[in-house]
Amino acid sequence: LNRRLAEFGTTIFAEMSALAVRTGAINLGQGFPDTDGPEEIREAAVRALRAGHGNQYPPGPGIPELRTAISAHQQRRYGLLFDPDTEVLVTAGATEAIAASLLALLEPGDEVVALEPYYDSYAACIAMAGGKRVPVTLRPHEDSFRLDLDELRAAVTDRTRLLLINTPHNPTGTVLTREELTAIAELAVERDLLVVTDEVYEHLVFGEAEHLPLAGFPGMRERTVTIGSAGKTFSFTGWKVGWVTAAPELVAAVRSAKQFLTYVSSGPFQYAVAEALALPDTYFTAFRDDMLAKRDLLATGLAEAGFKVFRPAGTYFVTTDIRPLGTALSQEGDGFAFCRALPERAGVVAIPNAVFYDHRDAGAPFVRFAFCKRTEVLEEAVKRLKALA
Ligand code: PMP
Ligand code: GLN
Repeated sequence: LNRRLAEFGTTIFAEMSALAVRTGAINLGQGFPDTDGPEEIREAAVRALRAGHGNQYPPGPGIPELRTAISAHQQRRYGLLFDPDTEVLVTAGATEAIAASLLALLEPGDEVVALEPYYDSYAACIAMAGGKRVPVTLRPHEDSFRLDLDELRAAVTDRTRLLLINTPHNPTGTVLTREELTAIAELAVERDLLVVTDEVYEHLVFGEAEHLPLAGFPGMRERTVTIGSAGKTFSFTGWKVGWVTAAPELVAAVRSAKQFLTYVSSGPFQYAVAEALALPDTYFTAFRDDMLAKRDLLATGLAEAGFKVFRPAGTYFVTTDIRPLGTALSQEGDGFAFCRALPERAGVVAIPNAVFYDHRDAGAPFVRFAFCKRTEVLEEAVKRLKALA
């Protein structure tokens, strides 16, 4: 393994899912639903496959039907207009969109300011592109993690090429507010930065919180690469259909990298996702409400089990602080040690947030649980975690 990748080893998701299989524990680690998305969308994929749609290489930028559906979705939800021919690119999940964007837009040595904790592929892709990551730490305030705007401004140097934003944010569940996004946009304009924004959890936002796409802020439309994914919104994480929307020059750049990574992917699934994006608003509302009920079940259960809970405004993850469990049970507040021991002790798998930090100490006591699981599975997990104390 070369020096750029040596520090990354195996992704925590593979490690913890393997641990769940080995121990038979309930897997609240890796974020994937245990129930597939809508039956009619699964049927649409079968129909496409049977009709021979997409069984051979689809067009490089994605099939026109899907690019049109992505564009229509951005317009319907946010009033943002993207030309399906020049401003939309279909990718092999958001993962490839992230990789292709960073490979296309970074010069070696360029700095990327990213919110810490960050989704693990960001660090690896910045490294593969020869860039340097500059983390800005989200800090716990009462029951959420917040961005310090002064720290963000201070992180930008003459070598900064882009800001890598994620809202709703994995793993903290933070949804950036209008004020925070306005400040990010002003900074990007003032320092002439590109912004790559990972908005894969755009439809999983609860209560008062609202998802606002960064591309909609003044001065951002031409400098922002927005990333979305069908995996999260339609509960088909195995289909690996993601996308990028951006100005034509940015989409052309990302496409240049994408064509040598996968060229194309997910032929028949692209047809199905085109139909999924056109589902009525009732689908999106019901999906969100269902996930909100699961959030409340798990968040309440974890609090009753003795964890400090940061009640997420978005995503399907809840971050906890394990220290209130006590020195012995929390392994002295070491989330890694806690998560390695948890399957044996409680039959539950979770993710130590420290893996998403450069400042490991800042992330040490935090542990993430996924709630995109059936009610009875969450209830059983809560029961087991309560028995820990
Ligand atoms: N970004 C974030 C923040 C994610 O949580 C995930 C998936 N867990 C991805 C990107 C990757 O999405 P996909 O499965 O579409 O590649
Ligand atoms: N995005 C999912 C999570 O955060 C996992 C994706 C993966 O396994 N790479 O848990």
